Order: sequence, then structure tokens, then C-alpha cells
Amino acid sequence: MELQVNHVITWMEKSNEKIQTNKDFLSALDRAIGDGDHGINMARGFNEVVTKIKETDYSTVSDVLKDVSMTLLSKVGGASGPLYGTAFLKMSTSLKGREKIDYSLFVNAVSEALNGIKMRGKASTGEKTLVDVWEPIVEQLQKDSDFEAVTIETTAKNSMEATKAIEAKKGRAAYLGERSVGHLDPGSVSSYYIFSALSEVIKE
Ligand code: ADP
Ligand code: MG
Ligand code: MG
Repeated sequence: MELQVNHVITWMEKSNEKIQTNKDFLSALDRAIGDGDHGINMARGFNEVVTKIKETDYSTVSDVLKDVSMTLLSKVGGASGPLYGTAFLKMSTSLKGREKIDYSLFVNAVSEALNGIKMRGKASTGEKTLVDVWEPIVEQLQKDSDFEAVTIETTAKNSMEATKAIEAKKGRAAYLGERSVGHLDPGSVSSYYIFSALSEVIKE
């Protein structure tokens, strides 16, 4: 398999479905340790993403990812808009000029996205942010040998659940200090939906 335009479009559609279904859940998680808007932010952003990419004709994966990024940057406020926007922009840039996206190019693109998130958010692993899902995903993708062998669904779920035990060091939840322990990180949960959607696309 190689990653094609239609795969990315389906990836975004599936991500959007999961985010819309869990919009209230994501906001409730953010109400516990933030300002309660994560579901609203993500639902608005991904709805706009799907609208945009369905009405456009694309010849490359890089171009789709560029529009995903620009839409998230312009439509999602808060911390998560610039962070997800940067992630998809880095993926797009990494794949620019590539006709065929084989597994190693894709893994490299996701790795670049993780670097972008870390730079933008000045976050590292263990700080109760979406880095705590993206970092293990990149490590897992590097271990898996090709698209057919990808096992990221489990990795995404486990790492998302593990954020519950972490004390927040970045973002609004950091103001709560120790009181952030015992709550899932909302951004890690939305990242889980995005990687769960990716896993479904790859397995189809
Ligand atoms: P806001 O906090 O501005 O209201 P959202 O609620 O949409 O934005 O997103 C919150 C999520 O963003 C958090 O759950 C966390 O995963 C992520 N986040 C916040 N700050 C950072 C950061 N500095 N680096 C990485 N991720 C972050
Ligand atoms: Mg919020
Ligand atoms: Mg906010």
C-alpha cells in the first residue's frame, strides 16, 4: 500500500465523525482541568476541514494536508488549533513533491509533525499534553515495518489512558498542578480519535 489522496480524505472524515460523536465528552474533559471548549474547538475545526477538502480537487497528499493545516490554524482557537495546525503543516511540508508516499516517507512525516508540536508548544513527553500520544505513536510507527503491520490503535488508546496519571506541566491544566492528576488530557483524547481513524483507514 501507498498513502494516496483518497486515504487522507477518508482519514479526515473518520476523524471528524469521532470528534463530532464525542464533542460533549471532549468538552467535559476540558471542563475538569481547562476551560471546557476542547470539544467545541475540535468539532468546529474538523467540520470545516471536511467541508474544505471535499469541495477541492487534489493531485497530491501534501496539498490535502496543507489545506487541513490551514483550516485548523484559521478555524480552531485556543492551544489546540495552532498545535494541530502545525502538525499537519509539518506533514504536508515533509511530503511535498512526493508522488508516491511509501511507509517510510509517511513515518517520517508523522515524526516531523511531532517535532512541530513539541517546538510550538515547548512541551516534552510526560507533561500531560497531546505529545503524550504523538510521541508513542511515532515510536510505534518506527517499530512497525509497513502499513499492513501497523498497530497504532492500541498504542494510541493506552497512551491516551496513561495521561490520567500524569500531572500537567503545560497548558491550562498546569494551573491545577497536582489536582490535574486523575483526569484524562483532552488533547490526548482527540489525538486518540485521529490515530484510531488513521488505523481504520490503513486497515481498509
Ligand atoms: P485551550 O486550552 O486554549 O482552551 P483546547 O482546550 O482546545 O485549548 O486544547 C487543550 C489541549 O491542548 C490540552 O488538553 C493539551 O493536550 C493541549 N496543549 C495545551 N498546551 C499545550 C502545549 N504547550 N503543548 C502541547 N499541547 C498542549
Ligand atoms: Mg480548552
Ligand atoms: Mg480555550
